[in-house]
This record gives sequence, C-alpha cells and structure tokens, in this order.
Amino acid sequence: MRRKLAAGNWKMNGTQVSLAELAAMQGMSKGNVEPLICPPATLIYAAAGLKTGVTIGAQDCHAGENGAHTGDLSAMMLADAGAAYVITGHSERRQDHGETDGDVLAKTEAAWAAGLKVILCIGESEAQREDGSTLEVLATQLKGSVPEGATGSNLVIAYEPIWAIGTGKVPTVQQITEVHRFLRTEIASRFGDDIAGAMRLLYGGSVKASNAAEIFAVEDVDGALVGGASLKATDFMPIVSALN
Ligand code: PEP
Repeated sequence: MRRKLAAGNWKMNGTQVSLAELAAMQGMSKGNVEPLICPPATLIYAAAGLKTGVTIGAQDCHAGENGAHTGDLSAMMLADAGAAYVITGHSERRQDHGETDGDVLAKTEAAWAAGLKVILCIGESEAQREDGSTLEVLATQLKGSVPEGATGSNLVIAYEPIWAIGTGKVPTVQQITEVHRFLRTEIASRFGDDIAGAMRLLYGGSVKASNAAEIFAVEDVDGALVGGASLKATDFMPIVSALN
C-alpha cells in the first residue's frame, strides 16, 4: 500500500520565527500519512533539529557534487543539513531559472546519489491545457526528466498544472483523474507494473482544506504538494488530516 504524502513547499518564505509553525505541526505524523515540509534552505538544519515528526525536505539542488558554483547547494549538503527529500523540476524553477527536462533529470540523479528522495514536478501551462496537448506535454516531461532507476521509494511525481499554482484555480476531479491515471500508465510502460503501483503521485495547485478531501478521493492521487496553505500549521494540518 502506498504511504500518503502531504508535502508543503514554503518557497522563498520563512525566517527563524517560522519554525514555530513547524513546531505547531508536531504530532501530525501518524498512520499511513507522511507530512513533509520543504522550508527555505536556510531553515533546513534548524527544522530537522526540532524533531517534530514532520519530515524535512529541500526545494532544489545543484546537479553537481561540489565545486565552483557560487550560491548553489549540492544534494549532499542538503542531506547533511537534515533533508530527506528534495523537489526537482518545480515550474517556478523551470520558468525563473530556465531549467530544462535534462537539468531536472541530472538534479534527480544527483539527489539519489546523496540518498535523497525526489519529488519531481511536471505540469502543463494554461495554453497547453486549452489546446488539448496536456497529456502529450506530461509524457514528454516524464520521458525527459525521470532518470533510469526510478522506484517507488526514491521518486514521487507531482502533477502541478502551472495555471493552478497560487491562483485558486483547480482542475476538475475528472481532469485530475484522467491525468493521474495516464501518469501511472506511462510509468508502468517504462518501469513496470510493480514500480508504477508503488510510486506516489501527488496533485499540486491551490490545494486547501476546503478542497483537499475531494482531490484525495481520486483513485490515483496519493497526496498533495501544497504551497501557500503549508505556511501556517492551522492551514496545513486539516489538509494532512484529510489524507487520513
Ligand atoms: C506549489 O507551488 O507547488 C503549489 C502547489 O502552490 P500553491 O499550493 O500555493 O498553489
């Protein structure tokens, strides 16, 4: 049975005082649900040290092991600071930093080499949704960014329609169902049924307490990647509870 994952992405938000929100999430980890918070890198070490039972992750890593890359952080450094997961391929990185599928693949491999689990994000733009190319776009992203060696324990795929991120717009249950079923089938055709059956598929994009239960009821949805509604314990905890 796939363990559900409620992953919070704090993005470029949070200073030391925000650790109080994490502390307030203590006790959320129970049963078949794994809560995860990816704070900014500056907070990973302190967040992991709180030992709240909430897993801690990072939002990005460099593809290299070390070297002359001013301002970048390697996967090994993030693991050393206490991260257990890293997000790769978030649409904000693809847009703001021009990251390609090839970059995402290289970062994912680097993360695995450092022992991190990866939440790899894919998703279509509004124009692609409207012109009917969503599944084709997702298939191309999967093919280009998921490395060989993916398993149910080292990789989580997050379907995040770009037009739903931070907008309050959410795809219909039918659209989420279609995409998640398609993703599992694509993964099965490349990696086999056992790996596809074990791999967690998250939905991300304007998830909040009021829509979480409906989204989580979709058969192939194994949790969520949550941005804005993960910043406050009072917003995030009901989303985690909706997975129980
Ligand atoms: C995200 O950025 O991964 C995200 C899903 O953001 P939000 O929940 O704010 O739409």
